[in-house]
Amino acid sequence: MSLFENTLKQINRAASLMNLDPNVKTLMENPQRIVEVNIPVKMDSGSLKIFKGFRVQHSNYAGPYKGGIRYHQDVDMGEVTALSAWMSIKCSVVGIPLGGGKGGIIVNPKELSLGELERLTRGYVRAIEPVIGPDKDVPAPDVNTTPQIMDWFADEYCKLVGKDAKGVVTGKTLEHGGSKGRNIATAQGGVYVLDEVAKEKGFNPADTKVIIQGFGNVGGVMAQLLAKKGYQIVGASDSQGGLIFENGVDPDKLLGCKAEKTTVVNCDIDFGGKRVSNEELLETECDILILAALENQINEGNASNVKAKIVFELANGPTTPEADEILAKRGVMVIPDILANSGGVTVSWFEMLQNADNNYLTEEEALAKLLPIMVDGWKAVKANADKYGCTLREAAYVTALTRIEEKIKEKGIL
Ligand code: GLU
Repeated sequence: MSLFENTLKQINRAASLMNLDPNVKTLMENPQRIVEVNIPVKMDSGSLKIFKGFRVQHSNYAGPYKGGIRYHQDVDMGEVTALSAWMSIKCSVVGIPLGGGKGGIIVNPKELSLGELERLTRGYVRAIEPVIGPDKDVPAPDVNTTPQIMDWFADEYCKLVGKDAKGVVTGKTLEHGGSKGRNIATAQGGVYVLDEVAKEKGFNPADTKVIIQGFGNVGGVMAQLLAKKGYQIVGASDSQGGLIFENGVDPDKLLGCKAEKTTVVNCDIDFGGKRVSNEELLETECDILILAALENQINEGNASNVKAKIVFELANGPTTPEADEILAKRGVMVIPDILANSGGVTVSWFEMLQNADNNYLTEEEALAKLLPIMVDGWKAVKANADKYGCTLREAAYVTALTRIEEKIKEKGIL
């Protein structure tokens, strides 16, 4: 089954709750443009290899298409389409003037040399150049793509168009026009939302046990920020497996160890962690389970065994619609991806604005500007959850679809 079917189910649920104009629903169910490209890359061995790449432009009713590029061996068009639709929804949940897009290349970047990775990235830019641009479609990092890759992307695009157009991509290094705060923005935005949830639920960080699935760029930073607030980090995993720490762990130290030993699993003896599989980690007792890895992690098969009180989605699409129903019945609160992880794209938007007027924010300013956007997003979602008596995910869709419907009508498209 394609991941996009999950998105369609989510749109459907919200549409029936809120009585969405059926024509708006139809527009949201059909991405505006789907591009598939074959990228020729000269490998270090001298041979030529073709890599398949995608860019899906889901909608630009609220603003230019916006969303990351994923480098992964299992990427397919259905996944990229789902992710592009989630970007449209995400940007409108927090009310930023951007639409939704997503890209991907079928590749395991760990198997490529740095030179091959650069040639692949530049080849992808040349292949999709006609459909992107700072006011048209602005890619960014996603799974396995880095600020360095974004720098190559911007450089290749600027060469092609013969001018400074580095705002064509966000998530660049600071030296090449990136925004301060972008590297921690997804996690920081998540913390701002979690602070609101904590106020609502009245929980105290020091008594709150957190497990993080996906102790990488986003999940690792989230652990650090939460530990600073006094939360106890009692479990962490990466693609190799996980560790449970009865008495908690210092995420700074765990990140340092992971960097040295390639996976958290090899840090078991260093911090007294018990090795568990990823499946076991998801079913371990805790207060907050943070999902910061890939899609479909909580599904029909394991949703009844999740013991966390709150599931917090920093990854995109980690909970299936079937699992959502099971969790809702069991009273597990799910803070949905389209709100929880929207801090990343929000600071990407700041980066676009900074590139356009060549005026740069300090990290403090960027994160201060992010705060009210996340809090307002949370408030709008919570208000809809109360109004419709629905889950936070349904409410987030209602919030976004209401705004997108307004834009579509303002533009006279319907
Ligand atoms: N890939 C991130 C996401 O899924 C960031 C997208 C962006 O900054 O445009 O939200």
